[in-house]
Amino acid sequence: MDFTFSEEQQHIRETIRRFCEAEIRPLVFESEETETFPKEMFKKWGDLGILGTRYPVESGGTGMDKISDCIIREELSYVSQAFASSMSAHSHLGIWPIWKAGTADQKERFFKPAVSGDKIAAFGLSEPDVGSNVRGLKTRAEKVDGGWRINGAKMYITNAPIADFILLAARTSPEPTADAISLFIVEMPNEGFEISKLKKEGIRSSETGLIYISDAFVPDDCLLGGETGTYPIILESLMENRVGVAANSLGIARSALNASIDYARDRKVGSKKVGEFQAIAHKLADMSAEIESAKWIVYYAAWCVDQDTLTHAIASKAKLISSEVALRATENAIRIHGGAGIMREYPVGRYHRDALVYVIGEGTSEIQRNLIARSLDL
Ligand SMILES: Cc1cc2nc3c(=O)[nH]c(=O)nc-3n(C[C@H](O)[C@H](O)[C@H](O)COP(=O)(O)OP(=O)(O)OC[C@H]3O[C@@H](n4cnc5c(N)ncnc54)[C@H](O)[C@@H]3O)c2cc1C
Repeated sequence: MDFTFSEEQQHIRETIRRFCEAEIRPLVFESEETETFPKEMFKKWGDLGILGTRYPVESGGTGMDKISDCIIREELSYVSQAFASSMSAHSHLGIWPIWKAGTADQKERFFKPAVSGDKIAAFGLSEPDVGSNVRGLKTRAEKVDGGWRINGAKMYITNAPIADFILLAARTSPEPTADAISLFIVEMPNEGFEISKLKKEGIRSSETGLIYISDAFVPDDCLLGGETGTYPIILESLMENRVGVAANSLGIARSALNASIDYARDRKVGSKKVGEFQAIAHKLADMSAEIESAKWIVYYAAWCVDQDTLTHAIASKAKLISSEVALRATENAIRIHGGAGIMREYPVGRYHRDALVYVIGEGTSEIQRNLIARSLDL
């Protein structure tokens, strides 16, 4: 394959890079320290057109290909994985199913204002007892007059503390089948929702919530895509987002490498620069080689999305490889920095804490391996 980015894709990268340096980098340190997300960023992203990259222009999106979407994610994560994660939960997980299966009214009320950045979305799938085993989810929606009564709990939900609406997965019948899993668009605040903000090691400025749901009422017009049959849409949405998350991991791996190269050039131990020690140079060489390989699988997977040939196995391979590469690269970055790597004034500690998130979130590495193994017809 003769692989190059098109001129337009390179232009997108340059534009996003400038935006991230001017608008995001100055906010990162304080947002991390205070563990708060600057909500006004969503409007800026909306104005820039990067919340609707994956949706056609006629639906209100900016109609870009997946390769461009991955370029944007990579550049965002290069500056802040936390900001990129908040965007990913909003612009993909929180609204992709609405675009795919929503009514005209739901698109008008939720999808369009999310794409413009006027409303913030979250996606509530994971529960205190249900993370990897999605099919086992317990949150229950029971039919009542004019709508649904929901009871249950949701765990680790990105953007929940700041969301205007949560796309919530719940079981519409007590049957333990995937068929009975549906999605509800729940406007916030809702009397039955109690949301508390979790304190995290990684992506600290991305706000993450624990939600208790007690007799929450949602009207009929908030059910998305019918009482049954929504589960495949959730799986399809997760599959494509794994490619996006792989691009996020690539961004953070690159920032770890570049920070380490700068440090290895500047820092002297005795008469030698740190980069002159072969042991350190080899670490940098490994990081560089692994990042190159992650780049190939990320953009190959993105290309598959654009060709409509993405499979769960390819998406999982991209996510597995790229997130694990990012984890190793960020750990090496700390080692190369010595004691400075542990200090908060240097960014590499944050890179490592942030890289950990994507070997877990969106399906752990073990779950990705399960999905890949399934494709091997063992
Ligand atoms: C920062 C952050 C943000 C998140 N944001 C969201 C969000 O916005 N929305 C949302 O719905 N969820 C979100 N999540 C939840 C995330 O998707 C889950 O944490 C993840 O799927 C793992 O589930 P768990 O934490 O319950 O781990 P568990 O499922 O309890 O897994 C524990 C361990 O067992 C292993 N394991 C489990 N099952 C298997 C198996 N079958 N084979 C081999 N090993 C297995 C896992 O790999 C892991 O090592 C977020 C998580 C984090 C950390």
